[in-house]
Amino acid sequence: MIRISDDFDHGNIHCVDTSDQSNIQLEIKSDGKADFFQWFFFRVEGCADQSLKMSILNAHKSSYPPGWSGYRTVASYDQEYWFRVDTSYDGKALTIEHTPEQDTIYYAYFAAYPTVRYREFIETIKPSPLLTHDVLGKTLDGQDIDYFRTGDGPRVMWIIARQHPGEDMASWWIEGFLRQLTDPNDEMVAELKQKATLHIVPCMNLDGAKRGHLRTNAAGIDLNRAWQNTTEDKSPEVFFAREAMQKSGVDFFLDGHGDEALPNNFLDSGKGIPSWTDQHEKRFDRYSELLLTTSKDFQTVVGYPTAAPGKANLNIATNYVAETWDCLAMTLEMPFKDADVNPEPTQAWSPERCRQLGKDNLKVMAQIVDDLR
Ligand SMILES: [Zn+2]
Repeated sequence: MIRISDDFDHGNIHCVDTSDQSNIQLEIKSDGKADFFQWFFFRVEGCADQSLKMSILNAHKSSYPPGWSGYRTVASYDQEYWFRVDTSYDGKALTIEHTPEQDTIYYAYFAAYPTVRYREFIETIKPSPLLTHDVLGKTLDGQDIDYFRTGDGPRVMWIIARQHPGEDMASWWIEGFLRQLTDPNDEMVAELKQKATLHIVPCMNLDGAKRGHLRTNAAGIDLNRAWQNTTEDKSPEVFFAREAMQKSGVDFFLDGHGDEALPNNFLDSGKGIPSWTDQHEKRFDRYSELLLTTSKDFQTVVGYPTAAPGKANLNIATNYVAETWDCLAMTLEMPFKDADVNPEPTQAWSPERCRQLGKDNLKVMAQIVDDLR
């Protein structure tokens, strides 16, 4: 008899019927106080060499149903190496078919980055003399919101990730970014740090991540729709980050996300904010072009439509920061599916490629730091 559980950090699945391994029926749970759902992450035990057919019955009611077309589920025996398995979507249920080679396996929407792993990573970089660690404040569930600062140059660069807790690619991405920042032999980084001070919040939504949410924090707030109207009692994560930005000022902002539907990496600007100028456009285009030449996984053809002039939602971090500090601010979106410009059949878009994109962003930041004002 197989056993299925989500009773761990970042887990999310509801078992409807697991009595027949060729017709396992599951559902994804919603974000507690909000209706969003799409993130799933569960463990199957007692399953070696057994042919499993698992259907997520409520896939069509999820937050982004187009995310399921052309999508393949990730699986892992050790939560380190993640590979893709056969997945189909009939417009209603998402069906995963796989025969595990080992007795215990994890299935997830994307290579999972639970808060346990996050804490382990933070502890490995905290001792680095190249970074200063601090805590911005506490989340509603009482978790420390970690913050790192490095460099002593005049330009102020803010990099944040994982406002949306079910977008685990953002954590792999910022892990690559931070690893590169703590490399003592990287001369380009050393030069960047003479020109700029970098402020980094590696995980904005720790409570949502731990609870297995897709999009919201413990109070059911979508943090990336809470920048203009943030409150300490409902969205302390944004409240404290915004407070720190008000102290430091901002010349550059980059926010790491994942997009459910689009099979590519792309950048979104604050175009559509009331104060948008040609200068904003030029800085954004230059960053995009440099990232295009630096990263084999990046592209500039597929992306979000831009908001009409003056109509951008100022509760979105990128728009809020661009408008408030009149600076280059961007959202980086990574795929759950694969990067169509450079597909990889076994792992598709993967932790290693996220980390590489983080390093590539750092390289581009070093090239544009002189032109931020
Ligand atoms: Zn997002």
